[in-house]
Amino acid sequence: RAKESGRDRYEVFTTVMHSEAFQKLRLENELRRAIERNEFILQYQPIVCLQSRKIIGLESLIRWQHPERGIIYPASFVPLAEDIGLIVMIDFWVLQEACRQMQIWQQLYPAAEQLTIHVNLSARQFNQYGLTEQINQILAQTNLRNANLKIEITESILLEKTSIANQILSELSDQNVRICIDDFGTGYSSLSYLHQFPIHTLKIDRSFISHLKMDSGDGEIVKAIIILGINLGLNVIAEGIETEEQLNFLKFHNCHAGQGHHLFSPLNADEVAKLLNNLLPDDADLFDPITIQC
Ligand code: C2E
Ligand code: MG
Ligand code: MG
Ligand code: MG
Repeated sequence: RAKESGRDRYEVFTTVMHSEAFQKLRLENELRRAIERNEFILQYQPIVCLQSRKIIGLESLIRWQHPERGIIYPASFVPLAEDIGLIVMIDFWVLQEACRQMQIWQQLYPAAEQLTIHVNLSARQFNQYGLTEQINQILAQTNLRNANLKIEITESILLEKTSIANQILSELSDQNVRICIDDFGTGYSSLSYLHQFPIHTLKIDRSFISHLKMDSGDGEIVKAIIILGINLGLNVIAEGIETEEQLNFLKFHNCHAGQGHHLFSPLNADEVAKLLNNLLPDDADLFDPITIQC
């Protein structure tokens, strides 16, 4: 049959090569190798107290330095890594690296002593009973104070209400590791869980911040989230601040802290070191989390 001619087989082959399934398989293999070959790096985005404009924390953000394709951002590989379960190993590496790095900065720079390191953990980590022990082990190994680690999770974990997730969150909070709800406002969760879980911080999703104008509907939502957070005794961080107008709005409405290109973009480790080195030793006591409460 004609289909079995060489040419047709070649065409079938190229179609397969370019199919989504094939691309996915290739990415999957490359991702597995990436762990072994140490192709991941972390950038760190400063989190700033809006009243004092001082840096109070850093969020670690993973990047994949692909040998051929250059820097790949998490949106292009984290979902796949979650699907195939690799995210567990990747996030374990991130936790270790972020804690190690923060502890070194704290030793080197007085201005870093009170900084919190924020680490994003995939919801998948919360199906594993060993997570608390893993985190404790990393904290012990790296010598970072528990209170200087903040875990960022999305609302979906709270929705699942699995007993494991619940137990892990309580254990972490008992050990003084703080929990931040990332992308707050985008999930479908009911607000009732907020006081059922030991949460420390709400991070308002950047989709609400990006269209922020004094008289917009998003402005009302942002105000409501800030008031909700404050009334529940939580710290509130706004992400994705890109303009002075957005910054002023958030500050005026008493949002505690912010993150975004208008303040600092995600930085490489050496850029963070320079930044911390240039801060006056005086600035250090302004980082006191008790006075700033961020
Ligand atoms: P996220 O945790 O909500 O992180 C904030 C994202 O917003 C980051 O994107 C950051 O670079 C970006 N961003 C910061 N300031 C601005 C701004 O002013 N405007 C805009 N438009 N964007 C801004 P990134 O680094 O591409 O990360 C995307 C997402 O990937 C993160 O969202 C987080 O959910 C996930 N992610 C990042 N690192 C990790 C990780 O180590 N583990 C896991 N499981 N997920 C991670
Ligand atoms: Mg985050
Ligand atoms: Mg976020
Ligand atoms: Mg977001």
